[in-house]
Amino acid sequence: MAEKCIGLTQSGERCTAPKANGGEYCLWHDPDPIKQEQAKLARLKGGLNRRVTPQLGDYPETIQTATQLLAFINAALQDAKQIEGHVQRLTVTASLLRIACEILPIVDTAARLEILESLFYREGIHAKT
Ligand SMILES: [Zn+2]
Repeated sequence: MAEKCIGLTQSGERCTAPKANGGEYCLWHDPDPIKQEQAKLARLKGGLNRRVTPQLGDYPETIQTATQLLAFINAALQDAKQIEGHVQRLTVTASLLRIACEILPIVDTAARLEILESLFYREGIHAKT
């Protein structure tokens, strides 16, 4: 069994992790700044592997129209590409595509209605609203 690290945890207790790299400390408690940097990177990488960070800039600010909803779905489809697990990525992508299939006819109808309304306004015919 590997010897234990001589470092202390944040609560002041003796660290129970095994010694690493032939030294007296584990990967997390080694005072060597290079090894601390490596530990920081490993922690960051572990965090990134656990969750997908959404690219919020690509999403519409609000969803008030079918077109904005479609833009949101498209942004989510791009983000779904970053999901690491093959099954999870396919599951999320399939869900988004199912929603897209449901809203596409609405987006199409809304676009046609917008064209018709603009023609009515151009002809001086106002819709009763
Ligand atoms: Zn330690």
